Amino acid sequence: MPAQAPTSATRPQANAVAKPGGHSGLAANALSGPQKAMHKLGLRRPIDLALHLPLRYEDETRITRLCDAAEGDMVQIEATVTHCEVQIRGRRQLVATVDDGTDTCTLRFLNFYPSQQKALAAGNRVRARGEVRGGFAGLTMVHPVCKSAESALPEALTPVYPSSAALPQAYLRRAIQSSLGRADLSESIPPEILNETSHFGISNLHSSLLFLHYPAPNVTLATLEDRSHPAWQRLKLEELLAQQISQLQARQERAVLQAPALSASQAPDSLYAQLLASLPFGLTNAQTRVGEEIAQDLGRPVPMHRLLQGDVGAGKTVVAALAAARCIDAGWQCALMVPTEILAGQHFTKLAAWLEPLLAPRGLRVAWLTSNVKGKARREMLAAIASGEAGLVIGTHAVIQDKVQFKRLALAIIDEQHRFGVAQRLALREKMDSAGSEPHLLMMTATPIPRTLAMSYYADLDVSTLDELPPGRTPIVTKLIADGRRDEVVQRIRQQIDQGRQVYWVCPLIEESEALDLVNATATHQALSDALPDQMIGLLHSRLPVPEKTAVMSLFTQGQMQVLVSTTVIEVGVDVPNASLMVIEHAERFGLSQLHQLRGRVGRGAAASACVLLYGTGESGRLSDTAKARLKAMADTNDGFEIARRDLDIRGPGEFLGSRQSGAALLRFADLETDTALLEWARQAAPRMLRDYPELAQRHVERWLGTKAEFLKA
Ligand code: ADP
Ligand code: MG
Repeated sequence: MPAQAPTSATRPQANAVAKPGGHSGLAANALSGPQKAMHKLGLRRPIDLALHLPLRYEDETRITRLCDAAEGDMVQIEATVTHCEVQIRGRRQLVATVDDGTDTCTLRFLNFYPSQQKALAAGNRVRARGEVRGGFAGLTMVHPVCKSAESALPEALTPVYPSSAALPQAYLRRAIQSSLGRADLSESIPPEILNETSHFGISNLHSSLLFLHYPAPNVTLATLEDRSHPAWQRLKLEELLAQQISQLQARQERAVLQAPALSASQAPDSLYAQLLASLPFGLTNAQTRVGEEIAQDLGRPVPMHRLLQGDVGAGKTVVAALAAARCIDAGWQCALMVPTEILAGQHFTKLAAWLEPLLAPRGLRVAWLTSNVKGKARREMLAAIASGEAGLVIGTHAVIQDKVQFKRLALAIIDEQHRFGVAQRLALREKMDSAGSEPHLLMMTATPIPRTLAMSYYADLDVSTLDELPPGRTPIVTKLIADGRRDEVVQRIRQQIDQGRQVYWVCPLIEESEALDLVNATATHQALSDALPDQMIGLLHSRLPVPEKTAVMSLFTQGQMQVLVSTTVIEVGVDVPNASLMVIEHAERFGLSQLHQLRGRVGRGAAASACVLLYGTGESGRLSDTAKARLKAMADTNDGFEIARRDLDIRGPGEFLGSRQSGAALLRFADLETDTALLEWARQAAPRMLRDYPELAQRHVERWLGTKAEFLKA
């Protein structure tokens, strides 16, 4: 992963002479501009500055003779100013001519300060660094970085740090240089644990840092750039170790927390047993196994922290419902949170249908809470949650708002967990913390987390996997078709309908604008209705009033409606086994995991199913290579894991981490794709550090993560 901080927008300025700060005790309003900017970048303690490593380097150790400079070279020259004037050629510019005895060169500045004009007065000797251009008028440099030639040439490469416009490089360099003298850079990894890393050829922290800040000019720049140099390896190793220790600590801290032990009731009249008996199918082996893993956790007086991953259609909802039943059997409440209103509605419909008939005789019910539940309905829901009558509460993050008080919350389930933010997860944990005990936490995701990510970011989670689909599913065939060939698609729809099958047609999100989605979906609905005049074609979108939505959905579910045109309302939860064709319009606008989710709406029955990805070619008349690669991945495989892996290749880890990563740049230096050996080492070393060297482990985490450590535990 590349460095997270904003890249430098400032050129080093010769006249930036403010004193470097780093007085962490000062109140924020007593800080100078650059000091504030430094704080904003998280550079507060000397160690933060010491660990703020260059993005790249500039070689100011050498002087190039003008006669040796070739067009396009990045060089530093030293020469005497022979002429300097402000010219008005369309716009005001400062133009100086310099001569180094081998040739002359024109320096041109379109924006300039009076101080620069003064520094370039005729007769002055200057050093200028920039890209040389040739041309009729001889050599030119546009906006070179100029310095007085009085100071000695530096002996090391000049670091260029990630910075912001408010924080000049020169200031940051001085601050970092001074911090390197003040920060405690003693080793925090004992030699015994480090010993095993000898095959990485890694020196110590202090010398690695000095080297990376001020590399000798003879170093092979490539090993710095690709971060394969032993000094980089050392830094990455330290960083990964800090992350692993911190996650282990989070796990250990949780182990001393209390949670209600929800012992499994085997009684035939338990909600669990009744729910199991009323399901129209038997559980898959994977569901049974995962259900057992969850039951084990729930039975312990420590909070569960488990991630349930399973491909689309693997049947996570049943597992969640059964866990909720165990919780209610033990006399507690369960909350199920989903990221959007629509998903909340779909879950509610499904779970209420399963559970309400069983809950009612017990004087319990399923409550439903989103920000759209208002007025009297909301007051009723809140009352039912507070009294404990609501055994299960389904909703969006409205469930964790301040005003919502649970009587006895023991289990929180988060569906599509990667779409929730860190702040929301922390709020949830705090909510549950009130009674001196935390609820159990079950997170579910259909976006499987690639192994390297699971090992690093989710090292503190227990993971259960539904690796088996319910029986009787037929593999879905996926085809890419250009938007111009819609007629063929309509032909295909007709065939499916003739065979008694049903069809989904999904319209894309347009720039997040619901209004435009609607226009588009309505147009498609009209076109399909015209093409298939004797079929019932429905339109579903989130703006429809609830009763109409319900009516459309039930017509489709019961098979009276042949085609359902929809915005992404149907993404999750809709379940019509007779549907055999999914058409996704402008597929290139969707994320891979979203496409995979949508495709998962078909192939649920025994019929052979297909998914057509219609792609728009835009004005260029062709799809970009990345877009093509993404869609091709969809056609190549039905395996959610493989799709997730390709999405990781194409888009980087953000997609999987959701907002977990933002706000805390978790890994600044290490790259999960290339640094797997270091990651493996850190995974082994972390528990030994905590067991044998707890104080050093603590110091190590504080050094690397400071206050970010709390954030990492969410
Ligand atoms: P997801 O894991 O994507 O959330 P769902 O929970 O929505 O999947 O389940 C997909 C479909 O499979 C639903 O119709 C569900 O009722 C059905 N299903 C779940 N478990 C089984 C099973 N063991 N046998 C048959 N059908 C099942
Ligand atoms: Mg689901």
